[in-house]
Amino acid sequence: MCAFASGAAHVAAQDSLTTRCESAPIAALFKVFGDTGRMPPDLGRFLQSAALQKVEPYQAFDNVHYVGICWVSAWLITSPKGHVLVDALYGPYTQPMLDNIHKLGFDPKDIRQVVLTHGHFDHAGGAATLKAALPAARFAMTAEGWREAAQSAAESTGRPNAWTMIDPDMVLTDGQVLQVGDIRLQAFETPGHTMGTASFAFDAFDGGRRHRAFTVGGLGLNAIKGPEQVEAFIASLRRIRALTEASSDPVTTHLTTHAFSNGLTESKELLKGRRPGDPHPLVDPTGFRAQLDELQSGAERRLVAERDKKAN
Ligand SMILES: [Zn+2]
Repeated sequence: MCAFASGAAHVAAQDSLTTRCESAPIAALFKVFGDTGRMPPDLGRFLQSAALQKVEPYQAFDNVHYVGICWVSAWLITSPKGHVLVDALYGPYTQPMLDNIHKLGFDPKDIRQVVLTHGHFDHAGGAATLKAALPAARFAMTAEGWREAAQSAAESTGRPNAWTMIDPDMVLTDGQVLQVGDIRLQAFETPGHTMGTASFAFDAFDGGRRHRAFTVGGLGLNAIKGPEQVEAFIASLRRIRALTEASSDPVTTHLTTHAFSNGLTESKELLKGRRPGDPHPLVDPTGFRAQLDELQSGAERRLVAERDKKAN
């Protein structure tokens, strides 16, 4: 399922965004934001509403749990010997994320590794809160990710959503594998959304079945600074797409950083009525490829515009 592909999104945007968490209207408003560079007022109100952002935490796979909010994800990958957390949320949402982890029956203190996709505040803004709450955890980003996060935090000084970033801890490199208990999480440098963006591959288990899951670190073109960055984004998308087509151990499952981007908000509801033997609703290689293709088409159009802008 690909919410970005929904032609009906504009119609739905007006009425439902202020009452519930739903992919299509959020995607539509983010598209306006991306195209115009101006935040639609409805989107601003939605992002500020703690009530609308609340998502009940849920078990997506035996060892993978959603602990994020409506518009931005956080994933907890668990093992008996410690856990990995993907992304930190921010501001008023980081402590409720820790509460979500408790609610699912895990102790946040068992988190050994926090990996951050990139330096924007919605993903990295909670790092300082987490660092204080999780003294045993290592925090990892790419070198450029650490730099971007520090810069982004510095630029927020004096603003209502000002935040501070922790000092660099672990520096991720392309292909690096982090091991916590039996979790093996592989980092990929996937520049584009920001130049320091990382993506992650890991195994998600469903009963006896193993699925290769992937978190794309950055999906939007809302922070583009020139054609080279768009070129990098396209190259990263191609690389990720190739992972879905690999002859051995292909990626089949996109555990997204933004649930509205691929309809996770809706598809996760299918987990509830699932019966033994039913396919897993989040294992959807075709849908993942369609999303990557859509992102690539948008990026190719943007590349033309950015090259024109640079030439003039
Ligand atoms: Zn971002």
